[in-house]
Amino acid sequence: MAEGARMFWCFHCYAVNDHPSGPCDVCGKPVEAPAGLSWVDGLIWTLRHPDGDRALIAAATLGRLRARESVPALREVVEAGPDVYLRAEALRSLIAIEGVEPMRSWLDALRRDAPFTLRDIAREALDGPPHGDYST
Ligand SMILES: [Zn+2]
Repeated sequence: MAEGARMFWCFHCYAVNDHPSGPCDVCGKPVEAPAGLSWVDGLIWTLRHPDGDRALIAAATLGRLRARESVPALREVVEAGPDVYLRAEALRSLIAIEGVEPMRSWLDALRRDAPFTLRDIAREALDGPPHGDYST
C-alpha cells in the first residue's frame, strides 16, 4: 500500500473506497458503519474483512470476549473461511465460547474431514492435549 494512501472498506460490500463516508463507489450504499454499531458487531463485520490480518485479530478477540452473539458468524468462518489460519482461529474462539460439549458431533466431523490444522484443534478439544500433558 502506498504511503499516505487512505483506504476505507465499504460496510456493505467491503469494496475499497477513498472516502470514509457517503455512497460506496461500487454498491452505492454508505461506506461508513451504521451509527451505534456495537464493538462486537464491528468485530463480526471484520471477520469477513479482505485484509486477512484484521479478520484474524477479530476472530481471536471475539473468543477472548466470549461473545456468544458471534457464534453463528464464527461457525460460518470455520466452515467456509477464506484461509485455514482464519478458520483455525475462529474454531479456537468457538471452543472458548461454547465449550466442547454442545459442539461434540460437529467437532467430531471436523476431526475427520477438515484440513489438518482444523483437525488438530478439533482432536485436541475432544481428547485433550497429546500425551495427556495438561500442563500447558
Ligand atoms: Zn459498497
